[in-house]
Amino acid sequence: MSNDPAAELPFYYGSISRSEAEQHLKLAGMADGLFLLRQCIRSLGGYVLSVVWNLEFHHYSIEKKLNGTYCIAGGKSHCGPAELCEFYSKDPDGLVCMLRKPCLRLPDTPIRPGVFDSLRENMLREYVKQTWNLEGEAMEQAIISQAPQLEKLIATTAHEKMPWYHGKIARQEGERRLYSGVQPDGKFLVRDREESGTFALSMIYGKTVYHYRILQDKSGKCFMPEGTKFDTIWQLVEYLKMKPDGLVTVLGEACVNGKVAEKTPSLPATRRTGANGYTPPPRAVAAASNPATTVPADREVLPMDSSAFNPYHNPNEVRKFNIQRTQLLIDEVELGSGNFGCVKKGVLKTDSGQIDVAVKVLKNDNEKLVKEEMMREAEIMHQLSNPFIVRMLGLCKAENLMLVMEMASAGPLNKFLSTNKDNVTVENIVNLMHQVSMGMKYLEEKNFVHRDLAARNVLLVNQQFAKISDFGLSKALGADDNYYKARTAGKWPLKWYAPECINFHKFSSKSDVWSFGITMWEAFSYGGKPYKKMKGPEVMRFIEGGSRMECPAACPEQMYTLMKECWTYKHEERPDFKAVEESMRSYHYSVSKKAKPEGSAAAAAEPVE
Ligand code: AMP
Repeated sequence: MSNDPAAELPFYYGSISRSEAEQHLKLAGMADGLFLLRQCIRSLGGYVLSVVWNLEFHHYSIEKKLNGTYCIAGGKSHCGPAELCEFYSKDPDGLVCMLRKPCLRLPDTPIRPGVFDSLRENMLREYVKQTWNLEGEAMEQAIISQAPQLEKLIATTAHEKMPWYHGKIARQEGERRLYSGVQPDGKFLVRDREESGTFALSMIYGKTVYHYRILQDKSGKCFMPEGTKFDTIWQLVEYLKMKPDGLVTVLGEACVNGKVAEKTPSLPATRRTGANGYTPPPRAVAAASNPATTVPADREVLPMDSSAFNPYHNPNEVRKFNIQRTQLLIDEVELGSGNFGCVKKGVLKTDSGQIDVAVKVLKNDNEKLVKEEMMREAEIMHQLSNPFIVRMLGLCKAENLMLVMEMASAGPLNKFLSTNKDNVTVENIVNLMHQVSMGMKYLEEKNFVHRDLAARNVLLVNQQFAKISDFGLSKALGADDNYYKARTAGKWPLKWYAPECINFHKFSSKSDVWSFGITMWEAFSYGGKPYKKMKGPEVMRFIEGGSRMECPAACPEQMYTLMKECWTYKHEERPDFKAVEESMRSYHYSVSKKAKPEGSAAAAAEPVE
C-alpha cells in the first residue's frame, strides 16, 4: 500500500466495494456532503469518490491519466487524490454537492489492500522463493534487506517466470502454439519480439490469432496504445484480464509455455549451483576470490546471489561442531592475523560439496587463556544464525586448534571502502549499514552483546553483502540481565565504547548501539579513523564535555542524525537496535527507490502491429 498516494488520507478505505462504502456512510450518519474515497477495482491507479446528498449515494470515478494526474470525468485534473478532494471541498464543479465532511476510517478498520497490492507482495515472495530457493526467516531477511532492489527486479524480469511468457519466439510460432489444443476466446501468450527487444501479446478470438505490441515508455512502464500504464508486464496482463483496454476481448486462460508445463523444479535463474551443490560467490568489484559470475551483467549483485546468504538447507549436515582434519584443506594464503595466530583461506569438504572457508588457526605456543577465549568465541558463534553474521561451521582440533568460518572474501569494511572510494556510492554504504543493523537487531533479540562492533569487524562477502564478525569479546547475557559487567578492563577499543563501558564496565546492546554509531561514521568517511589522532583519555574528555565527531563529508544529514542518536550519553535514552534498524531501513528504502531503475528498456511508442 505504500505506493498508493491516498494511503495517508484518513477517509480512504482502500479496495472496498460499493455496498461496503454505502454501509460506512450510513453508519456515519448520512449528512449532506459526507464522503469517502476508495480504490477503483476496474481502473488501476484510479479511485472512486462516494458522496451522500439528500439521503442518497453518489459515486464518482476518478481516473488516473497517462500523465499521472487524476480527474473525475469532465472535471479538472489534479496532481493527486488529496488535491482533488481538497478542490471539491471548496467547489462542487459539477458534483451533486461540495465535499463537506470526511467519513473517517475507524482505528480498527485498516485500509483494504487491492488485488494488485497483494499481488505485488505475493510476487515478491514468490520471486525470492523461486530465484534463491529461500524460505522462512532467510526469506524474510532477504525481503527486508533488499525490498527496493527486489521491486525493481520484479518490475523488469518477473514476467519471465510466468506460465504465459514464451520468450523469444517468432510470430508464426506464437500462432502455432495458440492454435494447438483447445482454442477458447482470450487464450493468450506474451513473447519477445525478435528484432526490437520489446514485447508482443498474441491472443486467440473466434479461432483467429491477433497480435498486439506492448508499448514501453522511457521509464520502462508498459501499456497498450491509449491504455493505462503499468510498472510491469505482469500487472498489465492482470489488468487486461479485467478490462480489454483496446483488445478484441479480455484475456482469458494462459497458453502455457512448455517449460512450466513440464513442472521442472524452477532452478534459480540467477544462481547457478555447481554439481557439488556449492554456488560460487558472485562478482565483486574488488577482492573477490572467485571470479565466476552468476549474476546477469545488467544488474547489481544481491546478497542472496551468494551461497553465504543461506548455506544450510540441511543444517545438520554442514554445521557440525567438530570438523575432522581430513575434511579440511588449508591454503597458505593468510587473510589476516592477530595475537592469537592467523586466519587462513581454506576449503571444507562436506557431503554435498565443497565450501570456501576462513580458518582461524590458533598458534600452538599460545597459553591456555587464549585457547579458552577461542573456545568461548566458538560457543557464541555456534548459537547464532543470521545472514548478516559470519557463521561458524565448526571447530577442528588437530595440529592446531582451528575455528572454521564461512568466508567473507572481500574483507573488512574499512579497508574495502578506503581502497574502493570511487566505486562505492553512498546508497551502497546505506545498504551495507542497514544489513549490519539487521544483524545487530538479531543479536539484541537473542540477548547477546558483541562488545567489539567496528568497521574492521564487519566483513564483506561482496560489495553488497556485509556480515558482522569477531565474537572474541562477545557475551551471552542471562535471561534476567540487561548488561554484562566486566570485572577488569582489558585491551579495549575505547574509541568505540560508550561512556558506561569505560566508566562502569557495563556492556549492553545499548553500548553496542554506541559502537554502531562509530561504525557508521567509519563507513560514511570511507574507512576514516575515528577521533583522528586523539588518544583514549582525550576521547573520553571530548565525549564527557558534550562534543561528538563531525559529519563526514559524504554522509547524508539523516544518517548523521542517527549517528548522533547512537551517541546519546545516557544509555536509557539511547535508541535500541530495533529502533536503529527501523531508521536505517526507512532511509535505505527512500534512497534506493529514488535511484534510477536499471535496465528499463526505452522503446518508442508505436501503433498496434
Ligand atoms: P579477527 O581476529 O577475527 O578480527 O580476524 C583477523 C582478520 O582475518 C580479519 O580482519 C579479516 O581480514 C580476516 N578474517 C577473519 N574472519 C574472516 C572470514 N570469515 N572471512 C574472511 N576473512 C576473515
